[in-house]
Order: sequence, then structure tokens, then C-alpha cells
Amino acid sequence: MEKCSNCPIKDKCIAEITNHKQYCRWVESRDKAKIDRVIELSNKEYPSITTQIINVVSSVGRIVDDAIHGKQILVSEEEKINRLNICRECEWFESENERCKKCGCWLAIKTYMKSEHCPINKW
Ligand code: SF4
Repeated sequence: MEKCSNCPIKDKCIAEITNHKQYCRWVESRDKAKIDRVIELSNKEYPSITTQIINVVSSVGRIVDDAIHGKQILVSEEEKINRLNICRECEWFESENERCKKCGCWLAIKTYMKSEHCPINKW
């Protein structure tokens, strides 16, 4: 995606990072509060490596626990697609790698796991 000349983000196009064209409209509105929010969103980083490791280990623990107790491990394909579509509209979504910047998870995997949930309860 070509970067707009009035984009306040230094390196990349915010719409490309987040998959949100609404942020381009916020910039065009020249509303300072909205532009500040766009800058804030573009600066979001993944959680620390330690937090990401803890998240992965916790996730694996929940999956193993479900497996041991004979519970369903995966959601249906339809549910996975629903979850992923919610993520794709989320401000924490990182489109290049399809990862969540809130938890650091790879969403193609996370959205398929029955025991997993969105860290901010969007699904
Ligand atoms: S898991 Fe939740 S916070 Fe992360 S991208 Fe998806 S909807 Fe957004």
C-alpha cells in the first residue's frame, strides 16, 4: 500500500500495519486527538519475550489439560473464521504476520484452539 503524504507514521502505512483504513480517515480529518491515537496505535509493540513465552506455555497447558480430560480441542472451521475476522478488524491486529500485538500470539493457530480467548474479550 502506498503511504499517504500526510501520514504521521514514520516508517509504514498505518492501514497496512493494522488493516484499518479508518485510521487514514482519522488523519484526513485533521482532528489532533484522532491523529495522536493513530500515532499511539502505530507504536504498539509485542509483549516482552518473557510474557510471550508465559502465554505460549499457559496455552499449551490448557490444550493438554483439555486433551487429557477428553474435551474438544479445536473449534469448528466456521468459528475459527469468525474469530479471525474479528481479529482482522481489531486495532491490535498485525496484518503482515497475522499476529496479535496484545498477546503476541499467531492468530491462525490461536483462533483454532477451543481453550483460547481474546485477551480483551472480543471473542
Ligand atoms: S486476539 Fe483479541 S486483541 Fe488480539 S487481535 Fe484478536 S481481537 Fe484483537
